[in-house]
Amino acid sequence: MSHSHIDAAQVGANVADSATAGATADPDLIADLALANRILFQERVLDAFGHVSVRHDKHPDHFLLARNMAPGLVTDHDIVEFDLDGNAVNANGRSVYLERFIHGEIYRARPDVMSIVHSHSPAVVPFGLLRHTPFRAVCHMSGFIGICAPIFEIRTIAGDSSDLLITSNELGAGLAKALGDQTVVLMRGHGSTVVGTSLKQAVFHAIYTEVNAKLQAEVMRLGEYTPLSEGETKTARKTIDTQVDRAWNLWKLRVKGEV
Ligand code: MN
Repeated sequence: MSHSHIDAAQVGANVADSATAGATADPDLIADLALANRILFQERVLDAFGHVSVRHDKHPDHFLLARNMAPGLVTDHDIVEFDLDGNAVNANGRSVYLERFIHGEIYRARPDVMSIVHSHSPAVVPFGLLRHTPFRAVCHMSGFIGICAPIFEIRTIAGDSSDLLITSNELGAGLAKALGDQTVVLMRGHGSTVVGTSLKQAVFHAIYTEVNAKLQAEVMRLGEYTPLSEGETKTARKTIDTQVDRAWNLWKLRVKGEV
């Protein structure tokens, strides 16, 4: 057994650095990515698992992602650079996430995407299991979800005995295909993946995807309901998109213990 095999205890992998290094990423971007990890933990989108990445500011075919660790503990020094195949540039022997292929394949398929959050946020999971009820925007804050978030069915690629994890480029490409041009893709029996055109927007989308899931589940318990129309999702999204900084600044201060 080589060290390339899965470390089951840590749900991570040790890989040799095989991608070519280029210009170093902006230190402010690295700092914001570390902060995003801690925000998403604090806001209960990530727990000990899940991850957030950002596209490299100087190499659009590379991305930045923490080493294999709990997101709430990530600092600037824990950020690793990868190519789109999931090869590390500077892991330097540190374990990396098994599911890094989610990120590389979505960045490959979606040039507009600058940041990705993969989580197991619990209120969203049931909607990935429902057969006839679409997960959709029920609140103006989450218009980006649209009127029917796609569900990725891993069995179509991996058969019916997989561990449900996205552990290869093939599975990552399948997930990216299911996402299509949308913002949120549900992953049956696993979680969800959310994208943004900036790190702050992806964090915002991830947090409000969980909020929307709680609201939709609640209204489904109460009775028949009227969700946002397609037109409302598009218009609300444009307006709310201008407010992302306000939320980020609040979440940032909360992480720092200042509010
Ligand atoms: Mn996962």
